[in-house]
Amino acid sequence: MLRFSGSLWSFRIIIRPKNPKDYKFLKNPAIMITVNQETCIGCGTCVALCPQTFRLNDGGKSEVISQDDAECAKGAVASCPVQAITVE
Ligand code: SF4
Repeated sequence: MLRFSGSLWSFRIIIRPKNPKDYKFLKNPAIMITVNQETCIGCGTCVALCPQTFRLNDGGKSEVISQDDAECAKGAVASCPVQAITVE
């Protein structure tokens, strides 16, 4: 179900799956983990810390493969030597 709420100037989109099993895809719907491909030097620290969240791609840069473990990703943010990871 997709529902809009709020006034003309501020509104929220609430996404609520009909099937409760689908919530696993929306574990942290407000969290987005990203890696800046320009900044990443491919050191692999984030991959070592959170292999369920990051992997090194063919270009030797880290990329996000799952949004499910924001807590681990926050640890990777602190460990990234070039601050290429954001969790917001
Ligand atoms: S820790 Fe930072 S620099 Fe190292 S691979 Fe991950 S994103 Fe790239």
